[in-house]
Parts: sequence; structure tokens; C-alpha cells
Amino acid sequence: MNKGLIIRSLSGFYNVYSDGNIITCKARGKFRKNDLKPLVGDYCTFTYDGKNDGYIMSIEPRKNELIRPPVANIDQAFIFVSCKEPDFSTVLLDRFLAMVEHIGIEPIIIVTKIDLLNRENELQDILDNYRKVGYQVLCISSKTNIGIEQLKSMFKDRVSILTGQSGVGKSSLLNALFPALTLPTGEISMVLGRGKHTTRHVELFDIYGGWIADTPGFSNLDLNMSARDLAVSYHDFKALSENCKFRGCLHKSEPACKVKEAVEKGEISQERYQHYLDFLNEIQDRKEKY
Ligand code: GDP
Ligand code: ZN
Repeated sequence: MNKGLIIRSLSGFYNVYSDGNIITCKARGKFRKNDLKPLVGDYCTFTYDGKNDGYIMSIEPRKNELIRPPVANIDQAFIFVSCKEPDFSTVLLDRFLAMVEHIGIEPIIIVTKIDLLNRENELQDILDNYRKVGYQVLCISSKTNIGIEQLKSMFKDRVSILTGQSGVGKSSLLNALFPALTLPTGEISMVLGRGKHTTRHVELFDIYGGWIADTPGFSNLDLNMSARDLAVSYHDFKALSENCKFRGCLHKSEPACKVKEAVEKGEISQERYQHYLDFLNEIQDRKEKY
């Protein structure tokens, strides 16, 4: 049986990437009975006779799954935040981090437009707070090419999505990277998110030895999770949670909470913890309304 990665899905046909070839397949596995439809990003087995369409026979268990756009097995999300225009927003970044980490995707913080900073170390302290708790942070400028080479090296062997509010420079970055995208020219506008494509459509493109989804993830910024999910969404909160006195600790008013202790010791920034409490309120308020 052949193995491959589904990189495109359209009207019941799937493009499966396998050993450098792309094979068009239909779905015919047991999974159909379970109402499980193959998704872009699924690793599958398929049969192929070398001339007709192939058949997808099975899909491997997913490590995660995004609903919009529908993609499975995302290894990493590049969260774009601009340092200026719009101003750097830690609250927005913290929201993205919670959403990304909640579904089991590794976040990478990309600070864009750093050519606009007045002083090189202007955001240093804020970014160091994120680095300190284990986030990867990379500063880039699509305008002056700062950080672009390093960013290129981060795609290898991984399935990536780009996310971040509009105007932070996602299209500009893809433009800066574009020479290496192996795309027919007609598809350029689509990859850059300029052409209006249907919400359901998503495709993986090969980029510097890895794959990238052509649509930004997380257009909806709702915190679609329970209070407890939020409490263990951030990787550092999750690790600390194991030693909170109470199982199911929400790190709010519980005694002997390790997250609160870390805030007091300065290991987690006050600001980030405050955002966490605000998000927690938001989730709990929402619940009461229903
Ligand atoms: P998107 O909505 O995230 O795709 O953002 P765009 O790529 O469309 O960029 C929004 C605006 O920011 C445009 O006017 C870009 O020219 C500008 N921009 C993007 N990247 C940079 C950068 O690295 N430096 C500066 N100074 N401006 C940038
Ligand atoms: Zn706690």
C-alpha cells in the first residue's frame, strides 16, 4: 500500500502527495462508514495502478484538526503580530496563543514590520517575557528582509499555517518568500489571500521543504473552549497545573496554585496573567448567557 499526504481536496477528489508525485484519488476506505471524511493534511494509505485515479483506503489518526479552514495535522502556527501599524498587542497575541495551543498546534510568534521600530530594543522586555516561558519569537521585516532567511528554515518537514489579524503583513511575507513557492502563476492571488476563494477550499503548498496552508487560520477570534481548557491551554500553565493543589484548578482564587505562584515570582508576566483572567471571565460569562 502507498502512503501519502492529502494536499488538496475538491468535489470528492483528493490530491495525494507521495514520494515526489501527486496522485489524484477518490475515497474508498472504511473511514467513510464512520462518517469521517479525509481532510487536507491527512496522512493516508492509497491504492494506485499507475494510470487511473487512485483510492484512499485509510487515514491515520489525526494529531489535531482545524475547522476553518479544514486542515488536519498542523505542526505549527506562525502567529503574526506587527510591532507597529497596527500597534503590538499582547492581548491579541495571548488570545491567539490560547487558541493555537488549545488545539495542540505549536505556536511560533512572528513580530512583523520591525523596520518601523524607532529603537531596536523597543519591544525587548515584552518579547523576552514570551521567550522566557518557552515561546519561539522571531522578528522580521518583509520590507528590509530582516529575519526572512531564518524564517525560511523553519518550514522544513512541517505543516504550517499562518495566522494573525489582517494588516499585520502576512501577504507581504508570502510575497517576499514567493520566488521559492512552486506555483503556477494563476494561483498566486489565491495563495496571497487576495482572490476571494470559497471558505471551504484549502490547499497545502510546498515551501522550503515543508507545507503551508494557503488560507490563514483562526479568522474567528472566539475562545471556543471551556474554562478548564483555557486553564491548560498555554503550555507553561499546563505544566504548572500538574502541581496545583486542586485538580481542575482555574488559577484564579484557588489556594496553592502554581500558576499564581509563578506570577508572584515574576516567572509569568502580570500582564499575561491578567489577560488569562480576562479570557476566563469571557468564557464564564458566555456560559451563563446560555
Ligand atoms: P495582511 O493583511 O496580514 O496580509 O497584511 P499585508 O501584507 O497586506 O500588509 C498590510 C500593510 O502593511 C501593507 O500596507 C504593507 O505594505 C505593510 N507591510 C507589510 N509588511 C511590512 C514590513 O515588513 N514593513 C513595513 N514598513 N510595512 C509592511
Ligand atoms: Zn492553578
